[in-house]
Amino acid sequence: MRSGAGKPLTRIGVLALQGDFHEHIQVLESLEVATSEVRLPTHLEGLDGLIIPGGESTTIVKLGDLYGFREAIRAELDRGMALWGTCAGMIVIANELTDDRPTPFGYVDMKVSRNWFGRQVDSFEQDIAIDGIDGDPYHCVFIRAPAVARLGNSVEVLATVDGDTPIAVRSGKILATAFHPELTDDTRVHEMFVNLARNGN
Ligand code: GLN
Repeated sequence: MRSGAGKPLTRIGVLALQGDFHEHIQVLESLEVATSEVRLPTHLEGLDGLIIPGGESTTIVKLGDLYGFREAIRAELDRGMALWGTCAGMIVIANELTDDRPTPFGYVDMKVSRNWFGRQVDSFEQDIAIDGIDGDPYHCVFIRAPAVARLGNSVEVLATVDGDTPIAVRSGKILATAFHPELTDDTRVHEMFVNLARNGN
């Protein structure tokens, strides 16, 4: 597939096992990318990027393991595919959790804490400046959101709340956000991920 400028069209898949994958697909369709629901490991073939959406991380890991996604996604990452986990997706791609369950897929050297904000309030919205996103602060929607409790050396913090709690991080071609950009009309985080998938930066 080719876009008007003659450049190959960027292909972004969304893991569609559980959660709000449909909302991501809708945002991606509004950008100049080819997008598809990923329901089987074979659907990963040829993707430039994959999004693991918000939802319930235990269910996503359970179904993912049933279909063999843990190894299949790792193989695509080795090939150079970009990856973005939002909310439950951030939990799924971490290599360690503060919680007993699930056993995350482990692609990013960080420890993530589920329901980090649960003790204060289950859901909230806040305007936050994000590194790599120009213009106004981004309106972040948090729904029983996780946060990063420990970061490996290879992981860069893009945004924090409460002064020092990381809620957006990047490690090479992998992005993780604790909030839900697919639930707002602001496409800037999706554009940042498309660029990462397209150009590697
Ligand atoms: N609290 C959920 C979990 O632990 C994530 C919530 C979300 O994705 N909005 O899986």
